[in-house]
Amino acid sequence: MGIENPKYKKNLDDLLQTCHQHLPNVNDSLVIKAFEFALEAHKNDLRASGEPYFSHPFEVAMIVAREIPLDDITVVSALLHDVIEDTEFNLDLMIKEFGKEVTEIVDGVTKIGGIFKGQEITQAENYRKLLLSMVKDVRVILVKFADRLHNMRTLEFVNQDKQRRIAQETIDIYAPFANRFGLGQVKWELEDLSFKYIDRNAYEDIAKKIKSKRKERETYINKFSDPIIKSLDQYNLKYEINGRPKHLYSIYKKMIKRNKPFEEIYDLFAIRIILDTNNTNDCYTTLGIVNQMYLPVPDRFKDYISIPKTNSYQSIHTTVIGPDGRLVEVQIRTRKMHEVAEKGVAAHWKYKENKATSDKELENWINWIRDVFEGASKDDARKDLLESFKLNLYQDEIYVFTPKGDLRRLPVSSTPVDFAFDIHSKIGYHCIGAKVNGKIVPLDTVLHSGDQVEVITSKNQHPNKNWLKFVATHKSKTAIKKWLNKEEEDIIEAGKDLWEKKIKKLKLSFTASDIAKLSLNLKYESPKLFYRSLGEGKINIDEVLTIAKDKDVKKEKIPSLEFDNFASLARTDIGGVLVDGKNSGIMYSYAKCCNPIPGDPVIGYITVGEGIKIHRKTCNNLLKMSEKDPSKLVPVQWPESKDSIFVAGLRILGKDSAGILNEISHTIVSYQNTNIKSININTTDSTFEGSVTLFVHNIEHLSRIMERLRKLKGVYNVERFESS
Ligand code: MN
Repeated sequence: MGIENPKYKKNLDDLLQTCHQHLPNVNDSLVIKAFEFALEAHKNDLRASGEPYFSHPFEVAMIVAREIPLDDITVVSALLHDVIEDTEFNLDLMIKEFGKEVTEIVDGVTKIGGIFKGQEITQAENYRKLLLSMVKDVRVILVKFADRLHNMRTLEFVNQDKQRRIAQETIDIYAPFANRFGLGQVKWELEDLSFKYIDRNAYEDIAKKIKSKRKERETYINKFSDPIIKSLDQYNLKYEINGRPKHLYSIYKKMIKRNKPFEEIYDLFAIRIILDTNNTNDCYTTLGIVNQMYLPVPDRFKDYISIPKTNSYQSIHTTVIGPDGRLVEVQIRTRKMHEVAEKGVAAHWKYKENKATSDKELENWINWIRDVFEGASKDDARKDLLESFKLNLYQDEIYVFTPKGDLRRLPVSSTPVDFAFDIHSKIGYHCIGAKVNGKIVPLDTVLHSGDQVEVITSKNQHPNKNWLKFVATHKSKTAIKKWLNKEEEDIIEAGKDLWEKKIKKLKLSFTASDIAKLSLNLKYESPKLFYRSLGEGKINIDEVLTIAKDKDVKKEKIPSLEFDNFASLARTDIGGVLVDGKNSGIMYSYAKCCNPIPGDPVIGYITVGEGIKIHRKTCNNLLKMSEKDPSKLVPVQWPESKDSIFVAGLRILGKDSAGILNEISHTIVSYQNTNIKSININTTDSTFEGSVTLFVHNIEHLSRIMERLRKLKGVYNVERFESS
């Protein structure tokens, strides 16, 4: 069974010989190693034909080497292409034995097989995107085509149902794909083979008729061409003239499309004249020659040179009455036009998609493949091209697969979290990890085209803020934010609940403004944040109540802090916002950005969820906000009271000297027992800049302190924080 078997020895010799015949460089030992590896891996398997399975990878490798020769790596990959899928050998072993390059191709061939079966592939747009993004290496496609070609050539051994299914898939998907790749010959063969299994009667009928007419046809075409050739020679034109061969399936297609019998399709001979010239006028000269020789059919003349087709196809088409009164279609074009015509598919995409840059690349790519197949021998250039071929077209999207092989389209730099949300928000909300290509990876792993992703979920897992840093899709961002907001709301609700239960139990009562005052005292920007802290368990209710008692929040009857009072002083002509019953529970608070204190010109700003924020009129922040929505401004006034306490900020500049901090704080505290909230000193060289926040009753209180500070030795400047 092994390599010593004369049959396999001959196979190997054939393969090596074919490789050397068609490929520029052949690593014999690598080919031999792959040959032996595949032989061993498949030793227990049989094909439907009853042959040892190995005959399949061997023939696929032969097709690659002979019919679509690129390099030895492709041949090696062809030999190994079914090893992973069908035997117990795995990718790790293959990497070890044959390296990453071969393994990636083999892996790609395995994956692309599943994709070709998908429904999504049947749309042209998806074909293109798939082939551009999925196939990092063109050799994956080559092996896949060779694989399919061999399967089609040996399709007679499987049952009829399978024959039809595979033939249909081939004609629907593989053949057009091959065409797009510029693999004309592969395309024709795939089509004709499929045709055979889809409609055997029609196939055999056409095959028989062609055979019987071949000689006659060749004779006729020569008879038609000879006088034209003579004339072209007289004009010194360089040309290539040929009767375009017709393939079975294309004849059949035309019969169906035009609803005509075989004879009428087949007997419409077609001749193509390709001129080696850059002068378009030579085409018209040639047309003149043809028309002088044979009578043209008037309404069958098309000048696609003057008016190219939208896909930039250029050619003259004319139908003339040839010898024996038979119709002959003649196409006339320059070599350059011919090349463009050959790239017609790419041009077609250009027309459809209007993605000029990408299509340009696509076109280059197809040209490149064509060049490679047409036996370019500059091996170094080829290597570079292969390197650069890691397709970076359509960089904005990647294609990844579910464990079942379903295709998901995601933006570049997507992570398993994006993938999870793309499948379902429930999966997103509970994803705890992921397997990419079978390996467990962290959630922030960046996915690549071709990755197979499996999300691991856990009921207890929930989104966290961190996820926002690495997700790429809008969908996941929105979903995560939604969840986080909901979570926040829940926590706030829980905190509020906790608070209210405790208050009820202790038979205390706090008005909305009591809570606002308390929150402020505890240095929360809003009661919401206070409740959140409670909900998160960051603060203890008993401690809070002690503070409330100490500060006497409840009993402190400070007019300026009573919202009712405040509201009553405000004008009420702004949509009635402020007038909602006498004891309106509308929250209000003092803006942190500018820390207004009594005496400052102030203005209210209606916020969502936090009642009214009171800003200084000079506050930059307020200015910006009011530009957006001036209707939210509410006039407010300070009540006349000396009992309230407010935070104010001072910036002090001076000469750095020992004890300056102490002097500043002493100056503040010694004036009417003023409390300092915070103090910060930065020194650079010999100067210091301090910022102090302190509790004051009103602007007068603050002014006195500023005056005192200014009098300190070494203090240059004291000013109030403007809005930051
Ligand atoms: Mn195969």
